[in-house]
Amino acid sequence: MRKIRSRIALCSIVLGLFLIGILILLNTYRRNASKWFLTAYNRHLYSSENVLLTGTVTDRNGKVLSYVSGGERCYNADETIRKATLHVVGDPYGKIGVSALATMRDDLVSFKPAKGIASVDEAGNTVVLSIDADLNAAALKALKNRNGTVCVYNYKTGEILALVSTPTYDPADIPEDLEDNPSYSGVYLNRFLSTTATPGSVLKPLILQAALEAGLEASHLDPSQDGPLTDWKYNCKGIVRFGDGYVKCPKVHGTQSLGKTLANSCNCAYAVLAVKLGPETVAECMQRAGLTDSYTVGNIKTARSTFRFSGIYDYQLGYAGVGLYHDQVNPCSLLVYYAAIANGGTAAVPNTVKGVCDRKGNTIRTPDVVTTDELMKPETAEYLRSALIDDVCLTYGKDRFPCGIAAKSGTVSQAQGASNCWFAGFTTDEDMPYAFVVYLEHGGTGSSAAGDVAAAVLKELVSSVR
Ligand SMILES: [Zn+2]
Repeated sequence: MRKIRSRIALCSIVLGLFLIGILILLNTYRRNASKWFLTAYNRHLYSSENVLLTGTVTDRNGKVLSYVSGGERCYNADETIRKATLHVVGDPYGKIGVSALATMRDDLVSFKPAKGIASVDEAGNTVVLSIDADLNAAALKALKNRNGTVCVYNYKTGEILALVSTPTYDPADIPEDLEDNPSYSGVYLNRFLSTTATPGSVLKPLILQAALEAGLEASHLDPSQDGPLTDWKYNCKGIVRFGDGYVKCPKVHGTQSLGKTLANSCNCAYAVLAVKLGPETVAECMQRAGLTDSYTVGNIKTARSTFRFSGIYDYQLGYAGVGLYHDQVNPCSLLVYYAAIANGGTAAVPNTVKGVCDRKGNTIRTPDVVTTDELMKPETAEYLRSALIDDVCLTYGKDRFPCGIAAKSGTVSQAQGASNCWFAGFTTDEDMPYAFVVYLEHGGTGSSAAGDVAAAVLKELVSSVR
């Protein structure tokens, strides 16, 4: 009898351990099934060339940009739309590492652990991008085969309406010489998110901000003047000397008010301001303005802007103050900065995603609106906004644009070929809270070439929202 009892006890222990093991196994499956399922080795999800074979991507209006059919990843029927949306949507092989197809695989796969592979089909979940495919196509056409980037976004919601990066290619008809032809150099980079470039004069509002917020007064710059900095008059003689070096303007601007120095894009005035402020104050302003930090756009970290202000001669600091020398700025952080001018000192961080839907069309995820820290004081934003509106009226010509805008251009001469150039700003209509940035490599002058791209994209945007 005792022998039977001891055997029953032993069997109970073994059964208990077995049940505990089963529970641990089920719990581990519940926690890790999705991760195991999404592994690149799963041939139910990926082809042998790592092409994701489930999931749909649309634009904000429901226009299908990428889908799976017959075991192949397919794209929109329009070639211009395919090329214009490539860097946001993604290539079939995930080589454009910051695209939706590369960074949102978890969202695109509709997988339920209880159903296993039976829950997966070609349609999968739908990632609804915030971009408007037609606006992207208009931006690509406006770039006219030049390399660069264009982005327009709503600085209240963070939704990116247009984001184009060039060079680009057709993901449905991949060029055979894509890897070897120098004209495709850097084609997998999203220039808006992942690159930096010399800013030139689009950086001048930041120096103006630094001067306004550092408490500079007119007498600090010229003992014969008094009053606040906003009363300062600067007499540009076309060149200003600092020790052994100098900074030049393209012409003699003469005597100007502070606001007019921005409209004239007077290099001498901004060099004087940067040198007077000193390297530490200028560097602190770049940090406060969000340029030296990385933004998180969806799942993607943007490139940080970089500067070198300390340990350099005054004339070099002067050049850094006009966006040259070692200044390197990320287009996304510059866009957010101009948006903050428009929005009283803060702005929503850009996002390319509007939401994720299941195959029944039910929204299963929407991104939160993330707002920046205060990048500038509200009164600074108000002053800069007014100066940038004057800049458009006095320099660029407001009739070129389909709506009221405030903007600044930048032109950076190159050793060979046409200049690189920028045009950054925002719309001033209350019902259109949009900021934009255009960057062109070897495009010409910022006011003309980059300004024309901005005008063309804004024209399409205004016609779509009004
Ligand atoms: Zn000048």
